[in-house]
Amino acid sequence: MNVADTDRMELILFHSGYQRTQEKEDADLILVNTCSIREKAEQKTFSLFGGLKPLKAANPDLILGLTGCMGQQDGEKLLKRMPYLDFVLGPDQVEGIGKAVNRVHESEKPFVWTGFDSEKVYTIPEISGDLPQKPGASAFVNIIKGCDKFCTFCIVPFTRGREKSREPEELYQEIRHLIKQGAKEIILLGQNVNSYGKRGLNNPIPFHKLLYGIAEIPGLERLRFTTSHPNDFTRETIRAYRDLDVLMNHLHLPIQSGNNEILKSMRRDHTVEEYLELIDELKSEVPDVSLTTDIIVGFPGETDAQFQDTLKVMERVGYSSSFMFSYSPRPGTPANEFEDSVPEDVKKQRLQELIQLQNRLTEEQSNLYKGKTIEMLIEGNSGKPGYSFKGRNPQYWRVNATGGEGLYKPGDRVQVCIEQTSGHGLCGAIQ
Ligand code: SAH
Ligand code: SF4
Repeated sequence: MNVADTDRMELILFHSGYQRTQEKEDADLILVNTCSIREKAEQKTFSLFGGLKPLKAANPDLILGLTGCMGQQDGEKLLKRMPYLDFVLGPDQVEGIGKAVNRVHESEKPFVWTGFDSEKVYTIPEISGDLPQKPGASAFVNIIKGCDKFCTFCIVPFTRGREKSREPEELYQEIRHLIKQGAKEIILLGQNVNSYGKRGLNNPIPFHKLLYGIAEIPGLERLRFTTSHPNDFTRETIRAYRDLDVLMNHLHLPIQSGNNEILKSMRRDHTVEEYLELIDELKSEVPDVSLTTDIIVGFPGETDAQFQDTLKVMERVGYSSSFMFSYSPRPGTPANEFEDSVPEDVKKQRLQELIQLQNRLTEEQSNLYKGKTIEMLIEGNSGKPGYSFKGRNPQYWRVNATGGEGLYKPGDRVQVCIEQTSGHGLCGAIQ
């Protein structure tokens, strides 16, 4: 989502005459779009600004802005800590980036803009004209912003505000436009895409209907979405996987923990059994679906037995990949008031165990592709020595392929015979 917000700010600034530089030393304006989901992300931001401070000292005309969730959360505090900042913007102020930069030119005083937009419907106005860069084969489209779930560990509902969806017509229009510019794959974005259309729209439709609507757009070759919350993931969406050829057979469905007491304390509002029921139904409708997830270890009160439950569920589902995190207390969230009872070294050890298990599951699954021919959408040149192109297969595995130089370009779909696997990727030859 931050990547999509950054692209949007780049587009707005491009139309005010800015162009991306390769080196920060060449820039008149530097923006750092921040994340506050875990403390580590915040620490990275502070160390990054530490490196930018000398640039500002050497060139007082350089504009330094901090945008994103840390801005929302810490606002004025950030100006105190980093007085060389020109402005701080929250994630709901992305559309105001042009105005913010103009204001720096007009006034000397640093400022903070962190209000939430008060419109009923979420809209991203179309900007016609040139683009800062040619869009790639795969493009992100925000369909819903904010989150109303308030999981006890999570800062997102505080930094990104209430859920709001974009009108389906606006989305169809944007997707048609992206396809015209060369996109072949669309990835729908939201903290909880399955909540799409629940309220506020003039023409409300549920998420699965939106999928059917988008699938009809001519020229669309691949459709994906992220992220889903198990509670809002419907049987109708499972049917959409079965019915729609363009909807790729991959689902990212965060489980967070494999233990019901921990899930309750996280306020995820579903049980492990309900989650597994969904997964089983999806697997029976779409046998070659791949599954990925998010997991937190060391949530307050998590016992070793409860952690073992998480390992069991991972093995049972057989995820192809996971985002695995050690619990990080976030100021202002309910879980921050719980006793952070799991010692750091235990959290670290659990995380290592989890990663090891995931590596084994990934290897087992990737080995199943050996000798098989898969379809890859070419995203660009491969960075891997000896390989020509990189892309992804329908199940979202990273693929590097040899051959086809001069014959294919990004956006083409090719058949690749998988010869070997490497970590989280598949490698083979274009047929
Ligand atoms: N909306 C998505 C998740 C967005 S945040 C969903 O509900 O699935 C991405 C992931 O970050 C979460 O799924 C969770 O695993 C992790 N995360 C969020 N808050 C965290 C915290 N305080 N400590 C550790 N991991 C966290
Ligand atoms: Fe955070 Fe996702 Fe829960 Fe929303 S649903 S509170 S974004 S973890």
